[in-house]
Amino acid sequence: MKGRFVTPGKTFEAVDPRTGEVITRVAEGDTEDIDLAVKAARHAFDHGPWPRLSGFERGRIMMKLADLIEENIEEIAALDTINGGKLFAHGQVLDVPGAARTLRYFAGAADKIHGTVLKLSKGLQGYTLREPIGVVGHIIPWNFPTILFFTKVAPALAAGCTMVVKPAEQTPLSALYYAHLAKLAGMPDGVINVVNGFGETAGAAISAHMDIDKVSFTGSTEVGRKIMAAAAASNLKPVSLELGGKSPLLIFDDADINEAVNIVFGGMFFNKGEICVASSRVYVQEGIYEKFENKLVEKAKSWVVGDPFDPRVHQGPQVDKKQFEKILSYIEHGKREGATLLTGGKRVGQKGYYIEPTIFADVKDDMIIAKEEIFGPVMSLMKFKTMEEAIKRANNTTYGLAAGIITKDLNVANTVSRSIRAGIIWINCYTALDVDCPFGGYKMSGFGRDCGLEALNQYHQIKSVVTPIRDSPWH
Ligand code: ADP
Repeated sequence: MKGRFVTPGKTFEAVDPRTGEVITRVAEGDTEDIDLAVKAARHAFDHGPWPRLSGFERGRIMMKLADLIEENIEEIAALDTINGGKLFAHGQVLDVPGAARTLRYFAGAADKIHGTVLKLSKGLQGYTLREPIGVVGHIIPWNFPTILFFTKVAPALAAGCTMVVKPAEQTPLSALYYAHLAKLAGMPDGVINVVNGFGETAGAAISAHMDIDKVSFTGSTEVGRKIMAAAAASNLKPVSLELGGKSPLLIFDDADINEAVNIVFGGMFFNKGEICVASSRVYVQEGIYEKFENKLVEKAKSWVVGDPFDPRVHQGPQVDKKQFEKILSYIEHGKREGATLLTGGKRVGQKGYYIEPTIFADVKDDMIIAKEEIFGPVMSLMKFKTMEEAIKRANNTTYGLAAGIITKDLNVANTVSRSIRAGIIWINCYTALDVDCPFGGYKMSGFGRDCGLEALNQYHQIKSVVTPIRDSPWH
């Protein structure tokens, strides 16, 4: 079975969100297929070369995979566009090069994994070994099928782990291509096992599996909770969870309004609002509120929604019908709760899952649209008076993934950054991310950090080795 594509009996549809039409059918993995994949990964971990190679050799194969990805940028970007509705232009310059960069970053770290030397008490000395944690289960969401695949896979590979990867059922295509490219790059059989399938079946089989040593998940808070429960009820495997958000962006009176409007727009509507850090709660200080609101509405008029292959388009279709309907129902909630619809609020066209960039004003902190993660192009605009009030309201959420501050006052920027309980704070920018930047949540946005060298730690066990020093006069 190892090292080749197999065809389980069942298949499911991969759909093009531009039209709602079926692109192709994909093999659907279920519990037994996850089991086979885990067996392959287990064998590759317990007996195969990958964990036993030098870090340098692992890094070399990862570098080769990065090269192959770069050689196929157009094809990969096109897969995520036809299947995920993502902008083709972004795929070409952000997602796919970002995946190659992530592989290279962790490839470079693979031969720099060290333990520490311990000077223990009386007559003992010791050291720590950083060992790969074992077989990892990665459960990937659909909003960044390429970047998030490698955000999870690359540090686990560098650490020497083997793995089973389950892409989201909405976006199964590009991951199959990565399995193919990994083989071409010389990745030993059984190291990366991609199984497409649904969350309640294939995903649940991963989190409950007795022979998976760790699960790394990105997705909704609700599913994160199920994964943690399944891990607790099976072999107590550690989990890392990167979950939802309802991130605040605070704009102070001294901000450059045009610049702020651009940052806010990008923060909210980038990737059609299907991004866990979306700046969905925008708090504007009262002195500039009116001007800001007018400019924001003006900006919405120049925002083009349409075919994600068209280079003039800013926003493609939502990923699928379910998501599309969920977003439209949140918009109805907003109207019913008494928020003022400033712009947007409707679907675009009659075909596919396109939605206008939507902005609500007069939003109260306790309205559903201000509290729940919508995961679509819907912004809540609110007014504040003082910094203290803004901090309090920004923190008034169960989430803690990200926050933004726009001000020229360094003191305000520093105070607010330290006061907001979130995993990343952006000052005078938003969604500025790099593989070197640890990324993860506080509160119900999860725990564990993807990216940066912090991510490597998630895939290691620390072993202490202790030995006596006989006849030493030094105690
Ligand atoms: P969204 O709600 O944004 O669609 P999810 O959190 O449901 O995102 O999905 C993210 C990933 O989690 C997908 O790969 C999905 O198949 C998987 N998933 C969904 N439900 C479960 C579950 N019960 N156990 C494990 N994985 C799941």
